[in-house]
Amino acid sequence: MMEQVKFLIDLQDVMSQAKRLEEEKQRIPLEVSDLKSLFDEREASFLAANQEFEALRQLRREKEREIEEERDKVERAKAKLMSIKTNKEYYAMLKEIEGTRRSNTAREDELLSLLSKYEEAEKRLSERKAELDEVTGRYRERMVDVEARMGSFDENIGKILTRKRQVASKLEAGLVRRFEMIFERRDGLAIIAARNSSCTGCHMNISPQLFNLLQREDRIHACPNCSRILYYEPAEEKAAGE
Ligand SMILES: [Zn+2]
Repeated sequence: MMEQVKFLIDLQDVMSQAKRLEEEKQRIPLEVSDLKSLFDEREASFLAANQEFEALRQLRREKEREIEEERDKVERAKAKLMSIKTNKEYYAMLKEIEGTRRSNTAREDELLSLLSKYEEAEKRLSERKAELDEVTGRYRERMVDVEARMGSFDENIGKILTRKRQVASKLEAGLVRRFEMIFERRDGLAIIAARNSSCTGCHMNISPQLFNLLQREDRIHACPNCSRILYYEPAEEKAAGE
């Protein structure tokens, strides 16, 4: 067998290993996709509960401030009451105070119902938070594991790519580029045996002229149909790995 052919077979072998590892690595994050969806779901629930809670907190603050202001108004009116001279003014002022008090009582009722909603929202928020924390812990733990495994894949892929460069350095750069293109387009098989006058890649018959040239084993030839690089393999011999 030609030396170049041997190198190309080695090259195909390391490129296949790298490809397989790359594919395995791509599948790792899929293992945590269910956990990731659960995390996303709980995060969304938490954010919704938080938004609801914040809105109620804002309403509560506004209502408390209104009540406070109206109370001050009543206190100021009461103080003013002492200095009033006429009965008419006096009763008018009393009536005003009474009106303010009454509307404040209504506000206080509103505040009470708001407070109960606020407390419910606060409770819901803390429940959503606990649910989110629980899944976050598990998700982080798994992600640490996933990243470690992906890292070890990267390390192995790096070693294989170094090996690939070593093999490729023994071959002409143009041939390596062509080989890589075929590898990419022909499902990871760029060099293949020609046996019984046919290409074992695409199973097309090879012309007797080309088959003769292949048997000479003095230069590289490609399959006219699938463009894969061919090497001659005697019919009797059963190819390893076929
Ligand atoms: Zn072919």
